[in-house]
Amino acid sequence: QLPLALLLSLLMGYIVWLATANRMSLSWQISYGITANEFMVYCQPLINAKTGECDGIELLLRWHNARQGWIAPDVFIPLAERQNLIAPLTRFVLNQVVAHLPILPRCPSFHIAINVAASHFRNRAIVEDLQHLWWPANPVPKLVVELTERDALPVVDQSVISQLHEIGVRLAIDDFGTGHSSLSYLKDLKPDVLKIDKIFTAAIGTDAINATVTDMVISLAQRLNISLVAEGVETAEQAAYLRERGVDHLQGYYYARPMPLGDFPAWLEHHQSD
Ligand code: C2E
Ligand code: CA
Ligand code: CA
Ligand code: CA
Repeated sequence: QLPLALLLSLLMGYIVWLATANRMSLSWQISYGITANEFMVYCQPLINAKTGECDGIELLLRWHNARQGWIAPDVFIPLAERQNLIAPLTRFVLNQVVAHLPILPRCPSFHIAINVAASHFRNRAIVEDLQHLWWPANPVPKLVVELTERDALPVVDQSVISQLHEIGVRLAIDDFGTGHSSLSYLKDLKPDVLKIDKIFTAAIGTDAINATVTDMVISLAQRLNISLVAEGVETAEQAAYLRERGVDHLQGYYYARPMPLGDFPAWLEHHQSD
């Protein structure tokens, strides 16, 4: 009996050790990956629901790790947030988009959205990064900061929000209706944009309760005069439903999958000629 128990506890210890070692090495690999150019910036078009034109993009990080291949953002972003590596990744995205500005549309109606973790709002860090990296480059096109709240953090500093508005940056709340994003955000953060999470888009025509939430979020945003983006639009039916209810922008595989930022101009040309 005893040797078996011993063996089992040794095995458990080994598994825990393995898991920890893997976590450690992955966060080390994130810092290494930034310097080794393993990260890439992809973008996904946002479609104006009224005109059908593309008048914005969301930037999405991709990571091709030398040892493990492609690693999904849902894996490395939460890890980067916990290991204080999220700000370097956001700065990487900003630098990349600034480098690509010459090939991106330069009209006032076009906007670029980046994902920013709530922790990056602490101590005005995001404002300083934008002042250094974005503002000198070009105030056109407009920048939208998509705030995702993954952990329950203390409320984002009000003054940071007003400073963002002062430098012409608009604020979106990502994944609205899920996780820690709550109704109190609307009062505290006064966002310019709400992004309806893809679980609510997926509910259209399939899940009565979540579809009711979708309808309520839409009318709530409209009453508060907040612009709406629906993400995860995969079917013509979903697109029509959201358009009929006055959602401003649609984003999803139905229109385009995320693509390398450098491929966007060719995609846009093709989309416009359709
Ligand atoms: P998100 O900001 O909600 O981004 C939307 C996610 O939905 C993206 O996943 C996108 O590829 C995916 N998506 C787009 N259209 C569709 C669709 O029609 N159907 C379905 N099923 N999915 C669709 P991705 O690129 O894997 O990113 C996952 C999450 O990782 C993002 O969710 C965001 O929270 C985070 N993330 C990605 N890039 C960054 C970044 O640069 N910084 C930060 N802080 N977070 C990032
Ligand atoms: Ca987002
Ligand atoms: Ca989202
Ligand atoms: Ca999401």
